[in-house]
Amino acid sequence: MLYSNPFAANFFPELVNCTICPRHCNADRLSGKPGYCQCDSSFLISSACIHKGEEPALSNTQGICNIFFSHCNLQCIYCQNYQISDNSSDIKPQNINEILVPIINILKTGIRHVGFVSPGHQIPQMKHIIEALKDFSNNLTFVYNSNGYDLTETLKSLEGMIDIYLPDFKYINPYTAKLLSGAEDYPEVAKKAIKEMYFQKGAYLAYDDNGLAESGLIIRHLILPGHIEESKNILKYIAGEISTSVNISIMSQYYPIPRVANHPILGRTITFEEYRDVFDEVERLGFTNGWSQEFGSHDNYLPNFNNENPFIPKKI
Ligand code: SF4
Repeated sequence: MLYSNPFAANFFPELVNCTICPRHCNADRLSGKPGYCQCDSSFLISSACIHKGEEPALSNTQGICNIFFSHCNLQCIYCQNYQISDNSSDIKPQNINEILVPIINILKTGIRHVGFVSPGHQIPQMKHIIEALKDFSNNLTFVYNSNGYDLTETLKSLEGMIDIYLPDFKYINPYTAKLLSGAEDYPEVAKKAIKEMYFQKGAYLAYDDNGLAESGLIIRHLILPGHIEESKNILKYIAGEISTSVNISIMSQYYPIPRVANHPILGRTITFEEYRDVFDEVERLGFTNGWSQEFGSHDNYLPNFNNENPFIPKKI
């Protein structure tokens, strides 16, 4: 299944005048003129590795094969994956075979869940990887793990291709979205995107015989210090406009990266009172499905993309 001319795959017509994400840059990425995300038409991937820290329905004990795309169409000042998401960071383009070989080696261990992390600005490349992997196995589960800043039109083009949507729902207040991620329209975009994902998948996760999710929607939310009303308003929106049966995943792992270590609000982890406040709201609103990280879980989740597996500390 490997390509004899691995660079032939890089012709993606959608990137001639790129409007695949809500930034609508109209950049000619095919001619090497990148837009906001600073990506051309190459495959720009920082890591393909086994990740065991995802929701149990996705990773269980064996883990998921996560593919981390470089750069991002949001530039959150506190990004926990800042080493690879910063649009000014250097990235080495890879050919399709360089991408596929490590993925296939992971899948040969029996893992059949493939997660695409922050793929919103490299959708044609992601689709190409999916098509190539289908030649390897027709029994894979593809997970779209995005920041929620996705165009509805682009999501419609993924219907039938993506098995599980795993979007973030970061902000509901445009001011917060502008301040922390440079995207004032994030709340409106994310609401529409998540409604489209819900339209495609409904509220319930389908499971296989081993208890692993096969199809559905899981909405993630990272609690930020000093932003508890934001979290509670997002929960209210999901409960009122989507469903209290949809799976939610509430993350408490926030850790201040070096860039915000001295930030007056983001320069600390969340307090137990903030954690409890959000989960009281989850309970009050009557959500019935999902997961929560334990308080203090920031010790377990911050990746280091300088390591071969960003989630396994380097041996000394
Ligand atoms: S994918 Fe990149 S170039 Fe295309 S619209 Fe989004 S930010 Fe702009």
